[in-house]
Amino acid sequence: MSKFSDHNFAGQKALIRVDFNVPLDKQTFAITDDNRMRATIPTIQKILKDGGSVILMSHLGRPKDGPEEKSSLKHLVKHLSELLGGINVQFANDCIGEEAVEKAAALKPGEVLLLENLRFYKQEEKGDEAFAEKLSQLGDVYVNDAFGTAHRAHASTAVIAKFFPGDKKMFGLVMEGEVSSAEKVLHANEKPFTAIIGGAKVSDKILILENLLERATDIIIGGGMAYTFYKAEGGQIGNSLCENDRLDKAKEILEKAMAKGVCIHLPNDSIIADKFAADANISTSLSNNIPDGWMGLDIGEMACETFSHVIKNSKTILWNGPMGVFEMEKFQHGTKTIATAVAKATENGAFSLVGGGDSVAAVNQFGFADKVSYVSTGGGAMLEYFEGKVLPGIAAINE
Ligand code: AMP
Repeated sequence: MSKFSDHNFAGQKALIRVDFNVPLDKQTFAITDDNRMRATIPTIQKILKDGGSVILMSHLGRPKDGPEEKSSLKHLVKHLSELLGGINVQFANDCIGEEAVEKAAALKPGEVLLLENLRFYKQEEKGDEAFAEKLSQLGDVYVNDAFGTAHRAHASTAVIAKFFPGDKKMFGLVMEGEVSSAEKVLHANEKPFTAIIGGAKVSDKILILENLLERATDIIIGGGMAYTFYKAEGGQIGNSLCENDRLDKAKEILEKAMAKGVCIHLPNDSIIADKFAADANISTSLSNNIPDGWMGLDIGEMACETFSHVIKNSKTILWNGPMGVFEMEKFQHGTKTIATAVAKATENGAFSLVGGGDSVAAVNQFGFADKVSYVSTGGGAMLEYFEGKVLPGIAAINE
């Protein structure tokens, strides 16, 4: 594997797997959130500045049966050109085949070509070797900058790497940033290391919790998943979210934590509601004594205080999952308070990484994205990384 910043791309055609899976307006196909495109611009610019040319490949949406208008990457061309300072971005109506081959071959230094959606071919997700080989022939160097799909062994994210020698395959800047931040947290030498895990379901977070038991000093559990833990301990949780088939697992996690000396913090109190709705009547309650007919939809004031105290004393922080139903105003307070505490700890020198779809949405929504050390772009990939899995997109480059 070659290091991106050390590589001189002069005269080379760099084939970059990017994550341009951006949301588009259903009617106009206008891009409604361009963060993923913006993230990759420095990678593209470095190559162009070196005197190389760039061929971009990505998936967009979930096309089921070949090409479809709503998943065409052609909708991104104009905006990509603007993000690159107005340079002309060429487009190939297919990611393989004659047009792609001709346009790639004709690219001159400083030029950019965007290929049509990779997932218009079923072979992409199947990790088909022949398809990967065809893609590989378009460029001289392979750069993987798509952390969001690094947990998939697809043709363009992993299989393709075998068609490039070690010094012609590398991570781009997004991928480098993601991997080094994740490594920094996972192998946290700076203790205390606090992991904040929230969101709806325990079942989605069991593997990450188990892996973190080996690494963290403190684990804060908030969000809907906290009530399964309370119920496992014999608490009354009313109509709160609960996974009855995970009660034993929750108990086991609490016992393992105790044995390992990892401190698990559950929210002592909750903001409770009489229905799951923005206009619900609300009250407060101890989280292990929620009346029937009521449900916990956010952490309460005592929990906010305890959690903030733990977070502010931490040196390494990982945050995955909101503390409550932050999409509704009445249940935002817990998540906002935790975001404030993470920002404060960061200001005081802690390294903080926010990863996973909804906590990222929350820090963006509340304006905290630039007050934490790193915001990961890869939800599923980040989660699998912290579960201790080897991500195929990373392994393929490292091999
Ligand atoms: P996840 O994708 O597992 O991280 O879950 C995120 C979702 O969990 C968000 O949509 C939140 O609204 C939801 N959530 C957080 N806390 C609760 C709660 N106490 N009850 C129900 N849903 C919750």
